[in-house]
Amino acid sequence: MLIVDKEKCIGCGVCEANCAFGAITVEDGCAVVNDRCTLCGACVENCEPQALRIEGAEKSNKVNLDEWSGIWVFAEFRHGVIAPVAFELLGAGRKLADARGVSLAAVVFGDGVEAAAAELIAYGADQVYVVDDPELAQYREDVYGRIMESLIRDQRPEVVLAGATAIGRSFIPQVANALNAGLTADCTHLAIRPEDGMLLQTRPAFGGNIMATIECPHSRPQMATVRPKVMAPMPPDPSRQGEVIRVEVPEGLLRSRVEVLESVLSKQDKVNIQEMEILVAGGRGLENEKGFELLRELADELGGAVAASRAAVDSGWIPYPHQVGQTGKTVCPKLYIACGISGAIQHAVGMQSAETIVAINRDPNAPIFDLATYSLVGDLFEIVPLLTNKIKENRGR
Ligand SMILES: Cc1cc2nc3c(=O)[nH]c(=O)nc-3n(C[C@H](O)[C@H](O)[C@H](O)COP(=O)(O)OP(=O)(O)OC[C@H]3O[C@@H](n4cnc5c(N)ncnc54)[C@H](O)[C@@H]3O)c2cc1C
Repeated sequence: MLIVDKEKCIGCGVCEANCAFGAITVEDGCAVVNDRCTLCGACVENCEPQALRIEGAEKSNKVNLDEWSGIWVFAEFRHGVIAPVAFELLGAGRKLADARGVSLAAVVFGDGVEAAAAELIAYGADQVYVVDDPELAQYREDVYGRIMESLIRDQRPEVVLAGATAIGRSFIPQVANALNAGLTADCTHLAIRPEDGMLLQTRPAFGGNIMATIECPHSRPQMATVRPKVMAPMPPDPSRQGEVIRVEVPEGLLRSRVEVLESVLSKQDKVNIQEMEILVAGGRGLENEKGFELLRELADELGGAVAASRAAVDSGWIPYPHQVGQTGKTVCPKLYIACGISGAIQHAVGMQSAETIVAINRDPNAPIFDLATYSLVGDLFEIVPLLTNKIKENRGR
């Protein structure tokens, strides 16, 4: 709770100016707090007369930071393989661990997962915590959450990273909440201050219009999720040596209120746009569902898949798993052909790291052209069939 000491408050208004949430106003020469207060503490830090203090939340969050050390990556294991985002996080985690001079550990849960430890070490882990149990064959949020929480409490890593996948997004917030730790979702950049281990977590904020760098100064571990394809893995080195730590978990932690009857791969997810090297993406300029048939033809010729802007997904022309952008997927293909997409920032953040971007748009001022390697100004309904036919011709068909 944020307390105003009326004796000390001079009504200067610095707290009001520093509150990003509009939670403080100065009334009759004294600060007044409303229910929008998030206890972020910005006002307390800036209050020269020391008239503001946080009680309760501050006490429970403050931990001895020196007791926490090391960088952890949760390595998601599904359908018999480690999710590629784990290797990407190990690449990022390696840089953080080296900068801070601490070790990098991977944590993997599942049934028959021990064999995956060598791969995680090859991709940069110094240690791998393996929780291998038939009860972990199926993902269950409550069980994963409890085991992760218990491991973190025992080992006290200062940083925990996880993929912003369906699994990461569902159980990592539960762990952060149980530990009273800060969690920054969907980071696009991570760095660390070597002297105090502060994780600098950068992510889009305010609808993607600014990039914010977030710190968690009082709580540990510092937790962050990162979307697949945002960070690059290190090249694997099979000769790297590391330690495999087998963790036995008490039976109580494996008990769940959830019974998984069957796990079925979604047909829609059969083509994962994040794994494709070539994507032909369509936006509102396609005008309707039929427009995507043109794109599918081009994608088939190129051996790629079809992706979309949110406008196309919201219009019901193509299902959500094809959406690229802030609220869709982040992709990094070799070739991204954007057809009838304006290039709004929320779309751009999901595709701007593609190796080659071809943009087709009839508006020469469309922002997508600022990102494009090749800009084709014109009507997509003319250009796309021309491209498809040219490719067919070159292949002698
Ligand atoms: C919080 C938030 C999250 C968001 N998340 C996402 C996200 O994840 N992904 C995303 O894509 N968007 C997202 N958006 C929406 C985003 O702001 C844009 O509204 C959206 O990307 C626009 O889609 P578009 O480019 O297809 O449509 P428009 O902006 O309407 O652009 C259509 C383009 O097609 C061109 N065009 C029209 N007809 C033709 C033609 N015949 N030939 C050639 N060109 C033509 C036009 O010149 C225009 O540039 C988000 C928005 C918010 C606020």
